[in-house]
Amino acid sequence: MSPPAATASVGVHPIPGQAEGKQHPREFSLLVQAKDGGDLASIPEQALQAVVDRMESNGSKEVPAELPFDELAASLHRGCTHCQASGEGDCLGLAAQDKSGKLAPMRFARRALLPDDIRIQVAYCGICHSDLHKIKAEWGPTNYPCIPGHEIVGVVSEIGSNVHAFRAGDRAAVGCMVNSCGECPECKRGLQNYCSGKTGVVWTYDSEDPSEKGAITMGGYSTHVVLHQKFALHLPANLPMDAAAPLLCAGITTYSPLRHFGLDKPGMRVGVVGLGGLGHMAVKLAKAFGCEVTVISTSPNKKEEAIKGLKADHFIVSKNEEEMAAHANSLDGIIDCVSAHHELAPYLSLLGTDGKLVMVGLSPTPLPLPAFAVAARRRLVAGSAIGSIQETQEMLDFCGEHNIVCDIERISVDYVMTALERLAKGDVHYRFVLDIQGSLVA
Ligand code: NAP
Ligand code: ZN
Repeated sequence: MSPPAATASVGVHPIPGQAEGKQHPREFSLLVQAKDGGDLASIPEQALQAVVDRMESNGSKEVPAELPFDELAASLHRGCTHCQASGEGDCLGLAAQDKSGKLAPMRFARRALLPDDIRIQVAYCGICHSDLHKIKAEWGPTNYPCIPGHEIVGVVSEIGSNVHAFRAGDRAAVGCMVNSCGECPECKRGLQNYCSGKTGVVWTYDSEDPSEKGAITMGGYSTHVVLHQKFALHLPANLPMDAAAPLLCAGITTYSPLRHFGLDKPGMRVGVVGLGGLGHMAVKLAKAFGCEVTVISTSPNKKEEAIKGLKADHFIVSKNEEEMAAHANSLDGIIDCVSAHHELAPYLSLLGTDGKLVMVGLSPTPLPLPAFAVAARRRLVAGSAIGSIQETQEMLDFCGEHNIVCDIERISVDYVMTALERLAKGDVHYRFVLDIQGSLVA
């Protein structure tokens, strides 16, 4: 059976409303995607075929529209694949219980919707290196159990009474934060990602949740999320949900510093250190801005892909001193996406006068700042954390216009531990994305 035929048949069924979305959120989400003609791969083929057969059995074009949603949902339903999950509640996730880094299915309760909340049935969630740092408590203590995931894309299945920005059935996305104080100078400037108020940034996971006393936020390696409408994003219609998911962290974290530090102009010479999830997005975005892009990597085997696949202009192996020396003083700016401890001096030497090294990679250990290398050419070392909600929407719209998505390896939840091990070794092209709706079924 080919997906387009199924799309056409399912498409004649009227899309059900919020009540049905609330009752059968996963099936509702699948149907919305089928209607949109995309992301069908994770719908169990047999179930979809059963729906198509039923719809076509009568031979009449009128009949399909009369198939009640309940019956359609039953055809698409799959039993819980993780019955052994610990805990209780309406949401099923993959949780770390301690810093061993092991994830296992866990049930827990999401809060009931507040008037400004939306519920998103998660379709896909990217795996960021930050998830790995967090579940292993590499950045300091983590609150366990911890459900990671902040590159979330799905379908709105329920909205609160005061929600105007979304309707049930809309595609929606969530990044690294789900709230902020809303009152501090940063929030008033629209920089929720730098909130300095009493709540601070409320991260999508492992943060105290001001909306629910005593609760710790839980991320997108789970069947659904509930959050304030102001922190949810609209996903452009032309972007596939799975490959767009990592835009919500890897995309915005590289887009924001390229824009803020003026590295978004045609002809700017931009270096990208560390060709992983963030790095490959930095290359794509800088190329879209018209920059001349140099990848600086520890992995010689990434050269061909970087040049041919990502269209980088130059590739330097950082361990090769001759290559590094040949590119001395050649860059206007560098986005440093390295997840581990590394020396800054060799990378600083690539910057010309007034060049900027922007740290987005978050090494668990402090990096010594080589004063001579910074002072010598009035170089600047700066940092950047994700981006504001407004800027994240701007980035998504930019990616929609330029057809930019991430290069991903889509995986089932059963593969998550292997994926995390591979990520720790830098062995990913270039982002793992969990197929939540296809494989984590409550
Ligand atoms: P990733 O996919 O694992 O990529 C990291 C890359 O760094 C690797 O592919 C490797 O690239 C390079 N690398 C690894 N170890 C290295 C070492 N010892 N020396 C030099 N290079 C090394 O990780 P990611 O998801 O892109 O995340 C990168 C970092 O950004 C993480 O620390 C993450 O927590 C952080 N982050 C920050 C923000 C923020 O807001 N600032 C947001 C998201 C993530 P090569 O093989 O090319 O050398
Ligand atoms: Zn991230």
